[in-house]
Amino acid sequence: MRFDNQVALITGAGSGLGRAYAIMLAERGAKVALVDQPKVCPSQSKALITTNTELLQTHETILKLGGECLYFEVDVSQQDDVKAMVNRLQQDWQRVDILVNNAGVYGACPFEHIQQADWQRQFDVDVNGSFYLTQAIWPLMKAQGYGRILMTTGVSALFGDLHQVPFSAAKMALVGMVNSLALEGEQYNIHINSLCPQALTAMTHKHLAPAIQPLFSFDTVTATMAFLVSGAAPNGQHLLAGAGSVSHGMFAEFQSI
Ligand code: ADP
Repeated sequence: MRFDNQVALITGAGSGLGRAYAIMLAERGAKVALVDQPKVCPSQSKALITTNTELLQTHETILKLGGECLYFEVDVSQQDDVKAMVNRLQQDWQRVDILVNNAGVYGACPFEHIQQADWQRQFDVDVNGSFYLTQAIWPLMKAQGYGRILMTTGVSALFGDLHQVPFSAAKMALVGMVNSLALEGEQYNIHINSLCPQALTAMTHKHLAPAIQPLFSFDTVTATMAFLVSGAAPNGQHLLAGAGSVSHGMFAEFQSI
């Protein structure tokens, strides 16, 4: 599967799956635009905004591989910044064929202790961020008559996982967004799907028991991603890829739902 002459924008590309997606698409010929947030370091008096060195490293890795790559330090929950970034990208590369909404936050917390600010941040990044990116890019894809959009959802959303109410609720909102937007995208050849990666990613790693670490299955997830953003992608589908729901003991390598 090749992506020559295509432009792919990947959010959350500084680490984990987003990084792996970006490298895989670049290896397969796509020009990739990497998006991740600036780092915020708390100091005694105020928060300091610094460079996201992980994002720069992903950028350097792709350049070393001979790929074409741009990077943007943008917080996807800031709509004006997202719009400005998409404008800049359009000026540089004129088109966007693939959008992977992968930036997200994760936290495990018993329900009664969830803070409003944490609930809000979960929705600001995962749901609002995906909405801002998708809406900013939509007219471009419509004009091209081609687009592939992928949302990173989660098995926790579909089946539940312990202490993950905000995460599950936000990911389920994305499932709804995919279902309705797919109906609208069909006529423009814009396909919208979701991928529920239940591999042990960096994000979930620190919250899970060591016993399930051997189930790590990054390759399955990235291969599924490549299919879902390719010309052969279905529309309005939700695929599980990886190790299944930890709480529910479902360990499918790959499953369509
Ligand atoms: P996973 O292991 O599932 O890939 P990570 O935590 O490694 O999860 O990746 C999530 C990425 O999303 C991180 O690189 C993180 O910096 C990024 N991210 C989180 N919030 C935002 C945001 N508001 N804007 C842009 N990127 C974000």
